[in-house]
Amino acid sequence: MNRKNILVLGGGFAGLEAAIALAKERFFNVTLISDREYFYIYPTSIWIPTRGNAFADVTVPLEKLAERRNFNLIIDEVVEIIGKENKILLKDNGEKNFDYLIVAIGADKMKPKGVEFTSSICGDPEEALEIQKQLDILIAKGHGKIAMGFGGNPKDPSAVRGGPAFELFFNVHHKLKKLGIRDKFELTFFAPMKNPGARMGENAVSKMKMIFDMMNLKSHYGKKIKEFQKNKVVFEDDSILEADLIVFVPANKGKKNMVNSDLPLSEAGFIEINDGTFFKSVQVVFDDQLENFEDIKKYKIASLRNQISFLSQRVYIFNDTVLKNVAYGSNEKDINKEKVILALKTAEAWDFVEKMEFGLNTVLNEFGTNLSGGQRQRIALARAFYKNSSLIILDEATSSLDNKIEKMVLNNIDKVLKNKILITVAHRQSAIQHSDKLIKFNNGQII
Ligand SMILES: Cc1cc2nc3c(=O)[nH]c(=O)nc-3n(C[C@H](O)[C@H](O)[C@H](O)COP(=O)(O)OP(=O)(O)OC[C@H]3O[C@@H](n4cnc5c(N)ncnc54)[C@H](O)[C@@H]3O)c2cc1C
Repeated sequence: MNRKNILVLGGGFAGLEAAIALAKERFFNVTLISDREYFYIYPTSIWIPTRGNAFADVTVPLEKLAERRNFNLIIDEVVEIIGKENKILLKDNGEKNFDYLIVAIGADKMKPKGVEFTSSICGDPEEALEIQKQLDILIAKGHGKIAMGFGGNPKDPSAVRGGPAFELFFNVHHKLKKLGIRDKFELTFFAPMKNPGARMGENAVSKMKMIFDMMNLKSHYGKKIKEFQKNKVVFEDDSILEADLIVFVPANKGKKNMVNSDLPLSEAGFIEINDGTFFKSVQVVFDDQLENFEDIKKYKIASLRNQISFLSQRVYIFNDTVLKNVAYGSNEKDINKEKVILALKTAEAWDFVEKMEFGLNTVLNEFGTNLSGGQRQRIALARAFYKNSSLIILDEATSSLDNKIEKMVLNNIDKVLKNKILITVAHRQSAIQHSDKLIKFNNGQII
């Protein structure tokens, strides 16, 4: 079997999920590429600064996952995607080709002036340890000012990430309270918008205000951040928020190394995708079937049905010649004899048709009463193969064939029906031996 090469870029939730799911399909050869050796569980990393979780608790070595889940792993940095040539460029390992590409390398962060005076809980994993270190120092000192906040991306308002900053803020409050030193600290949350969290509804905003009052948490909202200085947040009106520890979550922006790639990018540098999460307008990276999938809504029902051949256990033979029974539905002048013969050969029916008195022109009785059950089924199979549809559904369609003929038919299907989808419904194992994927039903449920 010619296995398709899938490259999955990125070892976060998205990349891993894709690699694990695709590696289960035996017709794919899946390689995950990550510049980090471990999978980092961002959601549970919010407990690292307050020592609720150790760094090792939120990391899983990718090598172990690759071994257990049967995908290949390359630790390297992707520096360019050349979609038109179906290849990517890696920093140390050169070029890699792909049949299909999944891009899941996350996002870069905005870099306001002086951002180096802050640490983020959403940045590189090491930054969570840096916040932990600075918090430990403050706790040892027994008092201080802590400011936490997040910023926006003017080119893409949806790229804002406020949630994790709020979560860490409350974690720190609870930690200090537990240590009995909360009243020695000033905790301030800052954000450029007037009502952070408004996307979750008015109720959320008013509840947040209530909680802030209850917990004696300060807020500094509605002013854009001009820059950061050592222990200072400077706002657009030059007002200053002083703090011993500043945690700042910048908004996301597109990855810098995508700029050289030939993928369609938004103004903020994110790869543009359509509803099916395919790259917008870069059809060169898809094969024909995926392009068709994208266009499916544009098809008319008649042309869609033309792409499907359905063959059930119950066969209908018309009172007409073998030729017209096989080419059923075609105009007489369009019937291609060679193709009819090929379809009959694929269905292992040519041998007995050839021996009939008038060959292809032999007239069959209605319901095929002048044929055996197995012969009727093979004529019907030939009809499905002649139609040359993309999707062939065989519902117990080989049940009347003896084992030897069935095996021959299935071998022929494998050879002739390349690039087609064949769905076989069967009780007998012999009918599904050639299938790439098996789905077992019991009482109408997939088991
Ligand atoms: C603190 C925090 C708390 C969160 N809490 C929640 C939560 O409770 N619930 C929730 O649903 N979501 C939560 N999120 C969001 C969630 O974690 C993210 O949506 C998710 O991690 C995104 O996964 P991803 O695979 O798309 O990207 P990432 O996790 O960013 O993974 C990107 C991967 O690509 C790799 N990579 C990057 N660039 C390259 C390159 N050039 N070459 C090779 N590899 C590269 C990286 O090493 C990484 O492995 C939280 C996020 C944070 C930061």
